[in-house]
Amino acid sequence: MTAPPRSLDALTYFPAPRLQHFCSQCGNPVTYRVPVDDNRERALCDHCGAVHYQNPRLVVGTVPVWGEHVLLCRRAIEPRHGYWTLPAGFMELGETTPQGAERETQEEAGARIEMGKLFTMIDVPSAEQVHVFYLARLLDVDFAPGPESLEVQLFLEADIPWKELAFRTVSTTLELFFDDRRKGSFGMHTPTLAPMPAAIPAGS
Ligand code: ZN
Repeated sequence: MTAPPRSLDALTYFPAPRLQHFCSQCGNPVTYRVPVDDNRERALCDHCGAVHYQNPRLVVGTVPVWGEHVLLCRRAIEPRHGYWTLPAGFMELGETTPQGAERETQEEAGARIEMGKLFTMIDVPSAEQVHVFYLARLLDVDFAPGPESLEVQLFLEADIPWKELAFRTVSTTLELFFDDRRKGSFGMHTPTLAPMPAAIPAGS
């Protein structure tokens, strides 16, 4: 079996989970070929005829604010164990993006929030993902780390651990947040992250 080449970013973060070896319909091995009437390689099952499409994944999260502070979580899981992040995670089937963002905030930070407006939608094609962050307001400071977090803490802008942030989408969102706060008005931002040239963790 051969598979289409993947970027360094995608391989760094998710070494092989998207590389499909077997058909999820019938269990036979798949081969990667360009189907008739298509224009890129797909995992094809020659036994049952299934075509297994793969598409970018959506990561949803929030920028939880309490006065001058922003809430960050320190990751208890790979990738980027021990690094700080905004609460975010993979969107689940059957939920909307704000529902997913609120759920992740509850799961990772035990935080009760009032959801605000869409703030960033960041394309990370090299990691095969799109990251979406909503503004949010903490309803209280009765938060606590969930199973995927080592600790949860409020930070002033001056105390943000910029060099210990887990992902570029998080640092990008925080930079835009503090820029907009200085301007006194929050926009909606849709940057695209370029691939990282070296083996430094990239967009996810
Ligand atoms: Zn099959």
